[in-house]
Amino acid sequence: MSDSPARSQKAQKVLERFAKKLNRQMVGSLLACVHCGMCTDACHYVLANPGDPTFAPAYKADQVRRIFKRHFDWTGRVFPWWVKAKSVYSDDDLEQLKDIIFGKCTNCRRCSINCPMGVDFATFNRMARGLLVSVGVMPEGVAVASKDQWELGNQMGVLREDYLETLDWVSEELRQELGDPNAGIPIDVMNCDVVYAINPREIKYDPRTIADAAKIFHLAGENWTMPSEGWDMTNFGLFSGDDDLGGAVARRLYDKVEELRGKKLVISECGHGYRSTRCEGQNWGGVDVDFEMESSVITMLRYIKEGRIRIDPFKNNKSYTYHDSCNNARSCGLFEEPRELLQIVCNDFREMYPNRAENYCCTGGGGAMSMSEYSAQRLKSAKIKADQLKATGAKVVVTSCHNCVDGLTDLIRYYKLGMEVMQLVNLVANAAIVKEKVTAALP
Ligand code: SF4
Ligand code: SF4
Repeated sequence: MSDSPARSQKAQKVLERFAKKLNRQMVGSLLACVHCGMCTDACHYVLANPGDPTFAPAYKADQVRRIFKRHFDWTGRVFPWWVKAKSVYSDDDLEQLKDIIFGKCTNCRRCSINCPMGVDFATFNRMARGLLVSVGVMPEGVAVASKDQWELGNQMGVLREDYLETLDWVSEELRQELGDPNAGIPIDVMNCDVVYAINPREIKYDPRTIADAAKIFHLAGENWTMPSEGWDMTNFGLFSGDDDLGGAVARRLYDKVEELRGKKLVISECGHGYRSTRCEGQNWGGVDVDFEMESSVITMLRYIKEGRIRIDPFKNNKSYTYHDSCNNARSCGLFEEPRELLQIVCNDFREMYPNRAENYCCTGGGGAMSMSEYSAQRLKSAKIKADQLKATGAKVVVTSCHNCVDGLTDLIRYYKLGMEVMQLVNLVANAAIVKEKVTAALP
């Protein structure tokens, strides 16, 4: 007879699901750690909490790894005490795991790129989140955002009428600003060259970014449209680890672009939205798409290079630095284009160090902004980012991610840095020369 404690239903389901999630990539990362500690100082949580080993990436990873060893690796099944293998039994065990995998890691992947053994902790941390989510163990904010995205089609619960009404008044204001009755946001137009998809945060808290994008498309003479449905390019499945949600959300957007017969999907500035839609969604959704996808950063840069919009950099007359979103830069390699764009639209760009793939997380990544129970810990750990921002001496930090806008705004307020946060679309729209409308590419 076994002397192991009885296992709760939820713990049992987590173990059953764990077995189904083990693929080559996951097992490689679960097995390869040699505990060399080289990833330790890569993590902003470690740097901001000296002396607390529970923030070390390898320690956090071991809380998932020990379950793997106990059930799926022969060493842990035969000598559990030797390899520190340990199972989960109670709902309380799952709650404790939740506080680590959701509360002590933003899945930023900075430790992953600093591991000589190729251990990608963030990837199996996401998988572990998905295991807990499948039995309903998750921070309240994650549950709410996921439910809204499942049921209402966007993660902020924006209703269709509010979305369309916002686009309507943004269009009206744009017509007034440009003095052009043809300006505005075309909705559900078929066969367009560009279908533009946004983050619901833009409707709810930042419609200026939609107005700025509409202005840029209009000045560039783009044949573009926005969808009336299936317009959310964010994907809470990336944060929650729920591949079913990830696939459903991605398919909704892909289907809409296909229904409109759009040639290209342009994704507004959002790190996790870009990664989910362009890089991960097809895998989660089990589909291939036959249209192009690109970040609006690349679209704007192309318009300038093709002469479709002209820029007066003196209109952006402050000092600017650039924060790389982890998802854009570290996970998708989008780090040169935003810099090239910034150098064109302003005269005082100051690099932040370290940067590009080595940049520190805004500390609001991985869905952390929705997990209010960990806010104090998040803001304490944001000290590293705050120091990095301060050292640039810039007045404005520019980022290509709505999540980073919120994370940075919060830490700037907390550490009283007195900086402003903007996106590239704001700077490009502000610097765009409106006098003459340029409708064709220059030779
Ligand atoms: S650097 Fe890699 S091998 Fe070393 S402790 Fe970190 S995860 Fe393990
Ligand atoms: S993914 Fe980022 S936050 Fe998580 S342990 Fe690694 S460095 Fe730290």
